[in-house]
Amino acid sequence: MRSPAARNPVFAYHEVMPESDYAYCVTSSVFAEHMQLICALAKNSGTHGQAQITFDDGEVSQLQNAAPILAEHGIAATYFVTPGLIGTAAKFLDWERLRGLQAAGHSIQSHGWSHKFLTFCDDSELAHELTASREVLEEKLGASVEEISIPGGRWDKRVLAACARAGYKRVYVSEPWIAGEMHSVKVIGRFMVRRTTSVAELTRMVQQDPQALWKLKMRAQLKRSIVGLVGDGLYHRLWCRLTGYDEFEAARQELTPEVRSK
Ligand SMILES: [Zn+2]
Repeated sequence: MRSPAARNPVFAYHEVMPESDYAYCVTSSVFAEHMQLICALAKNSGTHGQAQITFDDGEVSQLQNAAPILAEHGIAATYFVTPGLIGTAAKFLDWERLRGLQAAGHSIQSHGWSHKFLTFCDDSELAHELTASREVLEEKLGASVEEISIPGGRWDKRVLAACARAGYKRVYVSEPWIAGEMHSVKVIGRFMVRRTTSVAELTRMVQQDPQALWKLKMRAQLKRSIVGLVGDGLYHRLWCRLTGYDEFEAARQELTPEVRSK
């Protein structure tokens, strides 16, 4: 089920801005360096395979600042978006822009309906988050949606089984050492690129260095122990404060309950 070096590396980006303090934002110049490095490593080694670039949250910076750099390198990326948040804040890519990305060769896939953490949902909310997102994306963009990236990285067996029932074939998670078939879906681990990710760290991920993956796995186990002690709700609130994530979470919280639960 889980084999560290049996697949191509997948990278998850969030915001790409000229400058930012958000833990999951990389600057445009760093993003350009990363794409250059990833392309160079892929070219120089037949064994590293082709890295896949993904974006979560459907933010405008991913079009304005990242897409031109992707075009320079001829990289087609996957954008995971939340249809329920489109039009609720200026920072989210609208349908026209998403169609533009699609026309440029990128794939637009699901990040849930409203970014609700799927493990926090009851069964009907869970089905709605998964199905509404896929159906609206397919209807608005006219392309099939078979992939989802898990909001907030919260998943378990129940979530995977619900993803399969909702018609997804591939589920992207935040644990880069994971690759395999579980509960009738292919689960694909991604490396979450942060503001502090070094070129050396990125290189090790492109090379799928088993030791680096093992270290990340140990760190995740520690996180799980903390979550087990304090509960996931409190852990998430602390995490928001530490990473500067409040703004995005606030955008979701500001939605009326009707929109939020759609
Ligand atoms: Zn997200």
